[in-house]
Amino acid sequence: MTRTALVAGAAGFLGSHLVDRLLRDGWAVVGLDNLSTGRRSNLNPARGHTRFRFQRVDLSRPAKIPPADLVFQLASPASPPRYQEDPIGTLAVNSIGTGQLLERAYRDSARFVLASTSEVYGDPEVVPQPEAYWGHVNPIGVRSCYDEGKRYAEALTMAWHRQRGLDVRIARIFNTYGPRMALDDGRVISTFLRQALTGSPLTVHGEGTQTRSYCYVDDMVDGLVRLANVPTVAGPVNLGNPRGEMSVLGVAELIRRLTRSHSKIVFLPRTRDDPERRRPDIRRARTLLRWSPRTPLRAGLVRTARYVRTELTSPASHSVLPAG
Ligand code: UDP
Repeated sequence: MTRTALVAGAAGFLGSHLVDRLLRDGWAVVGLDNLSTGRRSNLNPARGHTRFRFQRVDLSRPAKIPPADLVFQLASPASPPRYQEDPIGTLAVNSIGTGQLLERAYRDSARFVLASTSEVYGDPEVVPQPEAYWGHVNPIGVRSCYDEGKRYAEALTMAWHRQRGLDVRIARIFNTYGPRMALDDGRVISTFLRQALTGSPLTVHGEGTQTRSYCYVDDMVDGLVRLANVPTVAGPVNLGNPRGEMSVLGVAELIRRLTRSHSKIVFLPRTRDDPERRRPDIRRARTLLRWSPRTPLRAGLVRTARYVRTELTSPASHSVLPAG
């Protein structure tokens, strides 16, 4: 019998790639999204599939959630400008939304997979960050709606596991990039590629010495699927690319070279509570999931640049893009 996976946040960047992969793996997939930051067009490849169904649902309010054998919770704004525009909604979907999905999974004896984040480590004092690190988060800062929202979601997930015996998985996802990122999401890779390809200045925040580790989306989805498939896992697992750590200025220069862009680099004020260094320790993922990212940063950026070029020439994109 075909088994059903529920993907909350299905129209998002990561969610839509996960949907495609689950369909390829033979699952029936129900995608949920309120389309606040996700886009219908991300689901175009899935739409023609007989095993795929989409429901527009806002999980931050009480909602009717369909049954499933496997539940993925990826529903949340995830880029800093987007979650900072709607901090109440971000906290609501991570608390109320996660709670409803956990309850649904419990009723169906389903497995539950939470998409958590490297942001649970805040501005880390330990590099690289292992899962055992408790983090350094400003609980009332501008990023706290996301960081604390995800920390609450992790706490709630572990509570359902300990108190009710629910089979749960927690992925701590580090920076991920690739096709289907929204070009107006304000994130570093989508923004720099768009700027480089349109000849606008690349906007580096601060001096650009802060680092992130960048993982290509196909590798991330593979990690998530492996995490969902292994028989048992206790506690969270970091998913990210430890070899992809680079300064923001380094990324700007690399993107300029790869796209043969003549764009200038300009320096803007650093954003508040911006983490200084982020790099995953993925020893757990290597051992438990036999997983590590395969796509080198250059190769992933070339593929993503191809996508950004196509988006920029599609008429639909022009209305949503910010200037510069
Ligand atoms: N950043 C930047 N210019 C931009 C967008 C982002 O310098 O136009 C910086 C941002 O301040 C941060 C880093 O790039 O230091 C990564 O930002 P992103 O929003 O991609 O992800 P996150 O902060 O959630 O890791």
